[in-house]
Amino acid sequence: MICPICKQDANITKEPHSPISLHVRGSTCGEFYMDPIFKSQIDTLYEMYSTPNYNRVVEQMQKFAKEFGLVIFTGSAEYPLTKLNGVILREIDDVLHPLGLKIQINSMPGGYGD
Ligand SMILES: [Zn+2]
Repeated sequence: MICPICKQDANITKEPHSPISLHVRGSTCGEFYMDPIFKSQIDTLYEMYSTPNYNRVVEQMQKFAKEFGLVIFTGSAEYPLTKLNGVILREIDDVLHPLGLKIQINSMPGGYGD
């Protein structure tokens, strides 16, 4: 299957403890979980951004995955759909902020930014 971040080949599974999120293992992005909300956000970025800007997003996400070994990319760090102890959570803003990028995306009601 295709990695939702870098669009290259990756091993993608759904696991019993997290049936609606993707568990992705790929050679370029490492290992991560991705909630459906984050997936739709990154898909939107892929459509909206120029290739250079999207590539910066890819690099930032790969950086997180390498830094922490395993990351959960989630629509809401407060109410993540994947629950694993001791695993770092990252929202789309955590990815975009260090890059000085912003995007308006509809998010879960009440789950964001307060
Ligand atoms: Zn990838």
